[in-house]
Amino acid sequence: MKKIFILGITGSIGQSTVEVVRTHPDKFTIVGASAHRNINKLLKLAKEFQIKNLVITSKLKKNELPNDIKIHIGEEALIDFVRNSDYDILLNAITGSAGLKSSIETLKRGKNLALANKESLVMAGHLVKKIQSETGAKLLPVDSEHSAIFQILHNENNKEVNNLILTASGGPFKNLDKKEFSKITLADTLKHPTWKMGSKITIDSSTLMNKGLEVIEAHWLYGIDYDHIQAVIHPQSIIHSMVEFIDGSIFAQMSEPTMRLPILYALTYPKRIKSNIVSTNMLKMRDLTFMEISTDKYPLFKLANEVGKAGGILPTIMNAVNEIAVQLFIDGKITYLDIPKMVINYVEQSENIVNPDLNSILEINTLTHKEAYLKFRRFI
Ligand code: NDP
Ligand code: MG
Repeated sequence: MKKIFILGITGSIGQSTVEVVRTHPDKFTIVGASAHRNINKLLKLAKEFQIKNLVITSKLKKNELPNDIKIHIGEEALIDFVRNSDYDILLNAITGSAGLKSSIETLKRGKNLALANKESLVMAGHLVKKIQSETGAKLLPVDSEHSAIFQILHNENNKEVNNLILTASGGPFKNLDKKEFSKITLADTLKHPTWKMGSKITIDSSTLMNKGLEVIEAHWLYGIDYDHIQAVIHPQSIIHSMVEFIDGSIFAQMSEPTMRLPILYALTYPKRIKSNIVSTNMLKMRDLTFMEISTDKYPLFKLANEVGKAGGILPTIMNAVNEIAVQLFIDGKITYLDIPKMVINYVEQSENIVNPDLNSILEINTLTHKEAYLKFRRFI
């Protein structure tokens, strides 16, 4: 029985993880869980799975808490559990930069980390990899593209890899002319064609910022140079990513689009277990097609590639300012086209710092959130 601590259990990845546990109750037990605000959902899950360690990271008042179940409050309480409680693997499904500290603390302890929170690698890939190699903890990708590559590269020599080829669904606007982008609404953006995810990543999928963040994530996970990481639009989301080896052979990992499969693999690695969480019928598959990513239509994809190559503190700044821009768009304060405008403008005016330590990353992340918000308020 593997003991899992799930951070962000109330979100989209958290819920898919819960479904995996429900399907395999003989294999997994949830020993701890966190949510940010959604206390009712957390309590429901705590009762169903008898979860002992519960944390709410937002600042709730005492009268909002239940009398019968002990819930710990705040980010420090969460870090305390990550550092000291008993688990075999921690699955980090917190959204955004708020997930970084927990990833670092899990690996520092030498505990295995199933990572959905791509921001941990975008902001601090150099630190995450260093700590991981020092403690020997395993870093198991949950992001479907990175899980695909992880499954293909298993036991393969990285020196024989020519290119990593990430696939992107292309989001809801892949067939829309750029001239029409000024009419895009929040509701249009949240209609993802193949995946059901949290709103932040769904919006990032439509601007292809998500794919840009994933290029950076792949660079750190697999130690592959940016010039050898490509991305293509694959609207059907059946091929989750590919690896091209130096002799020209290309391997693809396929299944119907469901996050349950990469989650299961991260939780059972290095084994596979028999499961019916996904059943892919090749005969029912539509055509598998590919399109180039237009950097003119998707400037944030281009920016993320450049920022990834530059490294240092710029990925943290880009990620933070994008978080603010997306939130303002969700709140109806800015238009869809303001998102790339604001992010590119902010990054272009930022200075880089090479090899930042964790404190600098966290400080600049907080500062950028504040500054970007103040700067953008002038646009509102
Ligand atoms: P959701 O928005 O659906 O869920 C986010 C979770 O994090 C919720 O449990 C939420 O709690 C919690 N949370 C929100 N803000 C904070 C905070 N400031 N501090 C601590 N916890 C917080 O996100 P997703 O599940 O879609 O995504 C989670 C991560 O996984 C992201 O990094 C995303 O990029 C990545 N990912 C997601 C995929 C998907 O299919 N959804 C696919 C691949 C990667 P509450 O509900 O209480 O607000
Ligand atoms: Mg992905």
